[in-house]
Amino acid sequence: MSRAVCVRCGADRMAYNQVCPACGFLPDGDGLAVAWLLSDNHLADHELDAAQARVRAGDPIEPNAKMLKIAKQALRTTFATDPGLTTAQRLGVLACSLVLTPLVGWTLWWTWRTRRPRAAWQAFALSAPATLAFAVLVLYLA
Ligand SMILES: [Zn+2]
Repeated sequence: MSRAVCVRCGADRMAYNQVCPACGFLPDGDGLAVAWLLSDNHLADHELDAAQARVRAGDPIEPNAKMLKIAKQALRTTFATDPGLTTAQRLGVLACSLVLTPLVGWTLWWTWRTRRPRAAWQAFALSAPATLAFAVLVLYLA
């Protein structure tokens, strides 16, 4: 069984990336990296007990940059470790940007910018020419 300690209230939960059953906290972005650090992916059981005691005592959990980097690499959320989009996904983003709206690429960029940075910038790059084309079209029609 997998174990993680809630960063906010210190309760035990099944996985670092799920909603806390005690307080309803759902970590996101950098918080997800901190949540990963407070799970059995990173800590032994007795270390989790110690972390739990710290959270319950109200001590802030503030991992240093090195620890955050370890967590982000494990979660594959750094630019170097994110595999990016597949060819089919790239063609899909490009087709949506050209046929529908370049906002698709912008939305993907915004949604993925912390969790999948490489994929986010690929989506942004694919929608950029369509954004320019739409802007020119709007200026031409106006
Ligand atoms: Zn909680």
